[in-house]
Amino acid sequence: MDSCRICSQLADVETAFNKNGKPEYSSSLPLAFNELTRIEEDYHSVDDYIAQCPLCKTKYHYRSTYEFLVGGSEDEITLTRLLK
Ligand SMILES: [Zn+2]
Repeated sequence: MDSCRICSQLADVETAFNKNGKPEYSSSLPLAFNELTRIEEDYHSVDDYIAQCPLCKTKYHYRSTYEFLVGGSEDEITLTRLLK
C-alpha cells in the first residue's frame, strides 16, 4: 500500500505538537500532509475531519486537540490512516 508517492511519506499514525511560543518543542506533520484533500461530507470542524489522498484514495482522520496547561498551552495533532 505504500507504493503511493504521498502515502509512503506518512506513517499509520502521525502526531505533531504545537506548544505556544516554543517552536523548539513543537513539531509538525510531514509535508505530504499538505497534499491530502479534505472530504467535505466528513468535515466536522477545523479540528476534526477526514482527509483523503488524491492519488490512491486512502483516507486519514485529522484530529487536533487543545490543552490548556499552566506555563503554556499546547495543541496536539493526530493524523491516523484509516483502513480500507
Ligand atoms: Zn496515497
